[in-house]
Amino acid sequence: MMLEIPRKSSKKISMNMIISREEKKRYEVERSQLLAIIDSVDDAIYSTDLDGRILTWNKGAEKIFGYLKHEIMGKKIFDKMVPKNKLEEARRIRDLVRQGKRVLPYETIRLRKDKKKIYAWFSVSLIRSKNGKAIGVSVIARDISKRRKLEEERNKFSSELNQLINMAPVGIGFIDHQCNFLRVNKMLSMMDGKRVEAHVGKPVSEIFPKSLSRQLTKYIETLLSTKQSYSLEVDTVLNTKTREVRFWSIMLYYIAFSKEQPGVGFLVQDITDAKMLEKRKDDFISMASHELKTPLTSIKAFTQILQNSPAIEEEKRGEYYDRIETQVGKLTKIINDLLDISKIRIGSFSMIKEKFAFDLLVEEIISNYRYMQHVPHKIFISGRTNKELYADRDMIQQLVTNLINNAIRYSPGKKKINIFLTSNGKDITFSVKDYGVGISPADQKRIFQNFYRVIRPQNHEYPGLGIGLFISKEIVLLHNGKIDVTSEVGKGSIFSVSLPLQNHML
Ligand code: ADP
Repeated sequence: MMLEIPRKSSKKISMNMIISREEKKRYEVERSQLLAIIDSVDDAIYSTDLDGRILTWNKGAEKIFGYLKHEIMGKKIFDKMVPKNKLEEARRIRDLVRQGKRVLPYETIRLRKDKKKIYAWFSVSLIRSKNGKAIGVSVIARDISKRRKLEEERNKFSSELNQLINMAPVGIGFIDHQCNFLRVNKMLSMMDGKRVEAHVGKPVSEIFPKSLSRQLTKYIETLLSTKQSYSLEVDTVLNTKTREVRFWSIMLYYIAFSKEQPGVGFLVQDITDAKMLEKRKDDFISMASHELKTPLTSIKAFTQILQNSPAIEEEKRGEYYDRIETQVGKLTKIINDLLDISKIRIGSFSMIKEKFAFDLLVEEIISNYRYMQHVPHKIFISGRTNKELYADRDMIQQLVTNLINNAIRYSPGKKKINIFLTSNGKDITFSVKDYGVGISPADQKRIFQNFYRVIRPQNHEYPGLGIGLFISKEIVLLHNGKIDVTSEVGKGSIFSVSLPLQNHML
């Protein structure tokens, strides 16, 4: 851009005697008009000599850069306004301009007088004298800080939004009005087993199995005309590779990408675990009622016999009382377990710690089994911990008893159970080994969950509520320990518990 302003002191005008008075006046008017125009614009308009010294400086420049005209005139621009990290760029551009090369407008950072950074748009060009000699540089600059800030905010917002969508623990997808996926998040791609990019532009029917996509397409079509949202729960295959049937909660809702472009938001959540828990709870209620009813029925029957047959022999009477006591014991155990579960739920499963010899406790528990006629197993202890625990004795007793009871129940017809005790000085470990039915690898992962029972064909032989191991695990966790199982179906199981010693001695 060549900007030539007729100057008052210009030799051409003042010395040229040919110029008439009217012409001189006209020049004056034009000059002041031009200066007024230059000062009235919001942009900074200034010029420098070839070394970067300011020659002219308009009002816009004063506003944008904060320097008044008299402060900056003759000063070098680089020293004042160019931040250190932009010096190289500024020099490069200056050299290009000096060489007469065209420099396209660019955006960069400058420093104001108050040292605040501003983003500015620059258009720079060489000023030549009448005879074509380069004499300076003219600059137009515009403060674009606000626009930049808005852009940065928009970029930040859109990257946050992307994160929100991508990292969401639910499957998210956007579908256009022709039932094609526009985009999906990572979770949805993990759910259906296809890459994120593989969804883009693909119809729903190409991504999901037939029955589900037919159902979804119907919903989407109605939704687009009614703008109504839909929630559905389906148990189906989503991943065509694994072909695993899982429970999904799906939500479809209307989105207006623009007036002409309606679309559909698609949310999917895997609710298999919640559904399974619901089912386990239902099973639990029927099992619990059964488990409570059976001993009650026997208690009722024996009490009736005892009441109605006064002539009953002393020996028989004693036997019936024993039976009643056994059934009461069973009831007490179930009720205590149920109470423990509710304590765990409300977080009031609190410990009363005391010091006790661990090996002695195990021996005591085992000695009780010797007198139980219905237990045909012999329990052998190997090793010793020789350690004292500082723990809740009743809870540890319940834990050891639970594991031994399970070993007995789940190894019918077997004669032996082994208990191993060791300590490495840091922890004590005790393991209970049986030679019974064993547990499959898939079930091993779940047996510590609340209400989980392994489904076996001969299940009726092992009545239970699926809460013993859950309570055991909670006891171990309260004592900062670990509980593990190794098992082989048909060969038996080993349940191992480690409890840190240091923790207990605190
Ligand atoms: P339950 O009262 O049903 O036995 P638990 O929580 O004690 O409840 O056990 C959960 C499930 O783990 C049981 O249904 C059983 O199938 C399995 N299980 C526990 N201990 C053993 C074991 N020693 N051998 C085989 N299966 C076991």
